[in-house]
Amino acid sequence: MIPGKVYLVGAGPGDPGLITVRGAELLGRADVVVYDHLASRRLLRRVRPSARLLYAGKQPGEASFSQEQINALLVAEARAGKTVVRLKGGDPLVFGRGGEEALALAEAGVEFEIVPGVTAATAAAACAGITVTHRGVSSCLGLVTGHEDPHKEGGDLDWHALAAWPGTLVFYMGVANLEGLCRRLIDSGLDGRTPAAAVRWAGTADQQVLTAALADLPDRARRADLRPPAVVIVGRVVAMREHLGWFQRRALFGQTIIVTRPAGQAAELCSKLEELGAKVIECPTITIEPPADRGPLVRAVSQLSSFVWVVFTSVNAVEALLEAVADAGGDGRNFVGCKLCCIAPATAERLASFGLRADLVPGRFTIEAVVEALAAAGELRGAAVLCPRSDAAPPDLTDALAARGADVTAVIAYRTRHDDSCAEELRRLLEADAGDWITFTSSSTVGGFLAAVDAEMLRGRRARLASIGPSTSQALRQAGLKVDVEATEHTVDGLVAAIVAAASRRGGAEK
Ligand code: SAH
Repeated sequence: MIPGKVYLVGAGPGDPGLITVRGAELLGRADVVVYDHLASRRLLRRVRPSARLLYAGKQPGEASFSQEQINALLVAEARAGKTVVRLKGGDPLVFGRGGEEALALAEAGVEFEIVPGVTAATAAAACAGITVTHRGVSSCLGLVTGHEDPHKEGGDLDWHALAAWPGTLVFYMGVANLEGLCRRLIDSGLDGRTPAAAVRWAGTADQQVLTAALADLPDRARRADLRPPAVVIVGRVVAMREHLGWFQRRALFGQTIIVTRPAGQAAELCSKLEELGAKVIECPTITIEPPADRGPLVRAVSQLSSFVWVVFTSVNAVEALLEAVADAGGDGRNFVGCKLCCIAPATAERLASFGLRADLVPGRFTIEAVVEALAAAGELRGAAVLCPRSDAAPPDLTDALAARGADVTAVIAYRTRHDDSCAEELRRLLEADAGDWITFTSSSTVGGFLAAVDAEMLRGRRARLASIGPSTSQALRQAGLKVDVEATEHTVDGLVAAIVAAASRRGGAEK
């Protein structure tokens, strides 16, 4: 058997975007991933479905592996021929016990590679707007354990040397000992007025930064109830934050946004919200499934070129129809002779990804606008129009087209099903009043939401409701809910812009 290999990979500080390219690539190849408490769970989405995931965190109160057990596990898996990724928060060799694991592997003759990661000190500094070194201010950086009891005799740290350090100090694992740590530095000669900061959950939507003079930091932390994981940065560079603190100034930082979109389609919305600093919680309320009877769709596909128009009212309809075309061994040529209409730009974009250009994208996204635009583009009377749709779609569009004399074929291309897998989480979030926003991108997501939680639960909660457009808003209002913002442009970008505008109107003063 070919022996396996162990990769000690730094996961970065918590933002899944801050892993290295090499680390991400290895995650996608691993047979076994052994991860710890600080490594972002979202990184685990990169692993193959067949990979085995083992949690080896060491959180108080959790059953966990001892360091010896972890070492033995890595050795055993590699000997069994596996590609093993040992995923550790930050950098594996900075207070991560990666050295012990590497030594155990070396001793056992197991091949290994070490992939560095963005360590908490530099992540916290960058995300808090503090430069760890700066010309004329700080010419060196010390990474120090804050885990050691500062009053213990004979510890490993030389506190006088640390107090005399001519640059920036960053303490890891220092929250529990914060008081003693600051006291010991001051008693050893460091000026109590030295700027200091505690940065918790650096680089994530939960980031918290406290700044104070060194002498006042423990009190500041106590008042803010600071908890791990946090690093403590000590040095004149901390004052830079005033000018460089970019992370928490982003438009949606501090906002928790619940996204109800179906799992496979939420990525764009989620990443745009996260980019702006929001904490995004995905609670899909619907799933998209194939039709119970594919017969009508298959028949429509076999006669595609007999239609004058194909009208796509959603990205799902595009995907379902094109999939059916591919299943029948066809491709874009099956559409010869048809004109293609897309209700919204996102739908047209998806169509374009299949190499098909929409002939018509009405400027407004209402049924009337679509019908008017189609009528303006050519005689509808007697024209064969194919509408691939959801089983849950209201008949408005097909009725309006038929009223104009069109020969409408409406086929169910996909089914929209309520997804209650997140119902419990949704209820828990609402009970805890944890969301600032709940986003709805279609009337079906509203239906799924209302199937999962009672509309009454929203009463008196902070969460504001954001809708992508008129039909989604109508579904919310029909349930007696208040639409707090509706996108002017009925796209993901429009929805994000509407939330940003509303959040800055209300929240600007709070930051
Ligand atoms: N190997 C890790 C450190 C592990 S020790 C690294 O290189 O970052 C655990 C300590 O790291 C925590 O107690 C805390 O001090 C720090 N830490 C890890 N992730 C952090 C984060 N996202 N924000 C602030 N501190 C963090």
